Amino acid sequence: MSRYLGSACKLCRREGEKLFLKGGRCNFGKCSFDKRSYAPGQHGQRSAKVSDYGRQLREKQKLRRSYGILEKQFRRYFRMAERQSGITGENLLKILESRLDNIVYRFGFAASRSEARQLVSHGHFLVNGKPVNIPSYLVQVGDIVEAKEKSREILPIQRSIEAAQQRGASEWLDIDFERVRGTVRTLPTREQLPQTIQEQLIVELYSR
Ligand code: SF4
Repeated sequence: MSRYLGSACKLCRREGEKLFLKGGRCNFGKCSFDKRSYAPGQHGQRSAKVSDYGRQLREKQKLRRSYGILEKQFRRYFRMAERQSGITGENLLKILESRLDNIVYRFGFAASRSEARQLVSHGHFLVNGKPVNIPSYLVQVGDIVEAKEKSREILPIQRSIEAAQQRGASEWLDIDFERVRGTVRTLPTREQLPQTIQEQLIVELYSR
């Protein structure tokens, strides 16, 4: 399966909520979902009865699209989450949050996960002093993620940092905006992640 190259805003409209896939544009009054909060297509405004399977599928698609992951990789993360001790749904969210592209985004060094993915794959970041250009690299607690010295001043990073400083940082991360560097202090607790995600529906879907 190839990567989705269509309109990101259509994905938000399909899932019925803002997934914040486009960085700054999502917050500054230019959001398509704010203007048309119904599904795309000819029948998008029809209200249809949704089955249990439909709800589970939509929840999975919503989470997968939020993190920009293909089905095969997402399913692999789910199997990994199942093998870990604890609650499978929460384990899945923690694995997704540990991806390097997500961590760069959470630090505020990129405006969106897709921008973070691009910055990582273009080799702008180091993990514990070593270059890593794999967006799916899983960051461990205590790892130091930083921009390479010559990448610190590039426009997308500087622009994102400006916005991130105003927003404030998540409690589970230590961030040094000046040095474009951060550490994962702990993995997030369920309360520190968006409450709109119903991960139990995804567990039910894959347990069918
Ligand atoms: Fe989604 Fe952002 Fe597009 Fe709004 S602007 S529909 S939040 S991707």
